[in-house]
Amino acid sequence: MVNARTPFIAGNWKMNLDHLQSIAFVQKLAWSLKDSKHDYASVEAAVFPPFTDLRSVQTLIDADKLELSLGAQDLSDNDSGAYTGDISGAFLARLDVKYVIVGHSERRTIHGETDEVVASKVAAAHRNGLVPVLCVGETAEDLEKHGPSAVPVAQLRAALASIPGTAEIVVAYEPVWAIGSGQAATPDQAEQVCAALRETLVEVLGADAAAATRILYGGSVKSGNIAAFMREPNVDGALVGGASLDIPEFASIVRFQH
Ligand code: PGA
Repeated sequence: MVNARTPFIAGNWKMNLDHLQSIAFVQKLAWSLKDSKHDYASVEAAVFPPFTDLRSVQTLIDADKLELSLGAQDLSDNDSGAYTGDISGAFLARLDVKYVIVGHSERRTIHGETDEVVASKVAAAHRNGLVPVLCVGETAEDLEKHGPSAVPVAQLRAALASIPGTAEIVVAYEPVWAIGSGQAATPDQAEQVCAALRETLVEVLGADAAAATRILYGGSVKSGNIAAFMREPNVDGALVGGASLDIPEFASIVRFQH
């Protein structure tokens, strides 16, 4: 079967770049991508800035008609009310945010987000018309104890528990041991887990939804290793952390075919 899924390269800035820096950054990134537009037309590129940058970046994308999708890094599982410090999916949708990362390993570890909270955030994203980029992945210890796919598959099942089969989702397989470590998974390892995740999507959402769902690999992705990941049949893109903060590097990741 021909893979009809549009490749997706997502830059997760984490807690980097304030709103003034984000404006200069996105302007330069857009120039860099435009220079070789014919090369990346078939790829969807997205940035995931901190909350305080979203309005500035959204205004820029809108005013300059940039071919860049906008995502946020988290959302509340509530839509409004007495939740000090939280940001609702409704607010993000009002800013034309299209995607939202849910269940990143840094949220699971540092903020103690359980599979239950993650499932509730996936539901909040859908309720507000946002596409969740659901992160799943095993730690080095999990890998040793349970093998490569067990934990990511269990996390995916838990997060999908309450979603309607028709709602769009992006899944990001991010082995925790590969995030920010400089030690990426091999393309074979990534493919093995992404294939298991797709089988799970077939079981839970049905064959059509599974075939349409993009599964990304994340964890120390760079311009030097992206092409090899993208050659794998079940890897449809990348969630890029550190390298997304380097404009030439991120632009070459977006142009991975060349
Ligand atoms: P990294 O981060 O590319 O710096 O490894 C990936 C991520 O955390 O999404």
